[in-house]
Amino acid sequence: MIRIPNLKLRINEAANHHAEKQALHNLILSKLKINRNELITFRIFKKSIDARKKDAILYVYTVDATIKNEPAILKKAVKAGITPTPDLSYKKVNPGKESLVHRPVIIGMGPAGLFAGLMLSRNGYAPIILERGDDVDVRTDKIETFWKTGRLDPESNVQFGEGGAGTFSDGKLTTLINDTRCRSILETFINAGAPEEILYLSKPHIGTDLLRETVKTIRKQIIENGGDVRFRAKVTDFIIQDHQLTGLIINDTEKLDCTTALLGIGHSARDTFETLYHRGITLTPKPFSIGVRIEHPQQLINRSQYGSAATTEGLGAADYKLSYHSPKGRSAYTFCMCPGGYVVAAASEENKVVTNGMSKHQRNGENANAALLVGVQPEDFESDHPLAGVAFQRKWEGLAFTLGGGNYHAPAQLVGDFLADKPSKQWGSVKPTYTPGLTFAQLKDCLPDYVVTTIKEALLHFNNKINGFTMADSIMTGVETRSSSPVRINRDDDNVSNVLGLYPMGEGAGYAGGIMSSAVDGVKTAEKIIMKYAPFSASD
Ligand code: FAD
Repeated sequence: MIRIPNLKLRINEAANHHAEKQALHNLILSKLKINRNELITFRIFKKSIDARKKDAILYVYTVDATIKNEPAILKKAVKAGITPTPDLSYKKVNPGKESLVHRPVIIGMGPAGLFAGLMLSRNGYAPIILERGDDVDVRTDKIETFWKTGRLDPESNVQFGEGGAGTFSDGKLTTLINDTRCRSILETFINAGAPEEILYLSKPHIGTDLLRETVKTIRKQIIENGGDVRFRAKVTDFIIQDHQLTGLIINDTEKLDCTTALLGIGHSARDTFETLYHRGITLTPKPFSIGVRIEHPQQLINRSQYGSAATTEGLGAADYKLSYHSPKGRSAYTFCMCPGGYVVAAASEENKVVTNGMSKHQRNGENANAALLVGVQPEDFESDHPLAGVAFQRKWEGLAFTLGGGNYHAPAQLVGDFLADKPSKQWGSVKPTYTPGLTFAQLKDCLPDYVVTTIKEALLHFNNKINGFTMADSIMTGVETRSSSPVRINRDDDNVSNVLGLYPMGEGAGYAGGIMSSAVDGVKTAEKIIMKYAPFSASD
């Protein structure tokens, strides 16, 4: 098979799957100068949009093709960047020899825990997954109740429950890491019901609606392969003897013997961070970001990114990614942009307001939203305690809760008023999507001064990139504090913490950021277990 890059189609040439396939077929023939009967088969490896020229938007493809007489073609075509298709299949690791005393336990069922669980169960290690929140169906009901009424379940919410933090998200599967495991993770999602396009789109996303179903299917696969999954099972303590993990306490009452635990608790398990700290597990504060969610009409973003092609069917809702470095030293950037999405109430603690964003697969909501964040460093925190970043987050989330009215309504301000430093009085043309509700407030009252100043500068800068970004009616909702973990749970090259048998992994441990990299970290951590131990046998 050979890889052919840089095949371009106009957007109307790829209006539907059949037309796209036919047009690509013809392009391959002309690029390779071969006859129809020499092209045996081909598939898209990568598809992206080139919208630099608004009047000539293109799809750009890399395809893998099987052709007759490949060596001869390769020889001729090497200058055009055509190469043999590399082998990107997942390389299994070999099991080790040590005996596991007890079944390995996975704490937390976010992407890290889910994919570690699948990997261990497929290889005969019979993992037990403990998840503090509910299964995804019960969790969905709890979250919908919260969004309607403001009644929060601190154990089952947008941060906690089956599928982890990203289940109520846009389900973006983009990542900056270049790891061959990414492809097998995408394939697992596809086998569990995600659309095949995630394998080749340059910016793949699943959407919260489809993601919830895939998570359930993966759970079933784990159980079929010999794993166990327990919901409403929060690890409340760690039993450690001579620097070795020997057991876990579940829900303050049940003791589970355990010498190998994969700790994938995410970035919001503040109570568990505290327990780890008190049990002597090494934690270090780390930088993260805080800011607001900003909401614009999706049409405004489409027009800015796609010009007159904005209404072309199939092009979908446009996205953006912006960054700004202030001469005063701070940086601001947009993060986790959700085209055609919703701003969501993402609190996990009582009396705190936290925002985030999600979209459905179709991304057909009226508004676009994104986090607008400014980086903060441990030096910004009020002490050098390992959990000072958590205290910092709590402070601003608590102020946002009070400003919002003390009922999980979030403080909000129109962009025009934020820039003019005055409170907003009524909504303009943009309808807010956050529920259970919003209260007009000055966002400067729930953000550090340097964050407010940097966001103001950044807004003006971003308006030069996205025409209308400072549209007076667009809405800012506070506060977004959970873009990444405020703490790192230290681990060595074998992924082990300073307590033997305890393997921190995923975003909460500070080794990943986002669904894909957390899933990859879960797989890598499971591989460490596989390489060290023989599969678990009940007779061990
Ligand atoms: P998590 O997903 O946070 O999972 C940790 C799990 O551990 C949770 O289910 C929690 O309940 C459980 N847990 C915690 N403590 C305990 C305990 N003591 N005992 C038992 N269980 C415990 N990333 C993207 O790449 N794309 C996106 O589009 C995207 N959108 C997002 C939208 C929202 C609203 C949010 C909140 C996040 C979004 N993210 C997105 C980030 C992404 O969700 C995280 O990076 C990812 O989920 C981290 O995976 P994880 O497995 O490390 O941790």
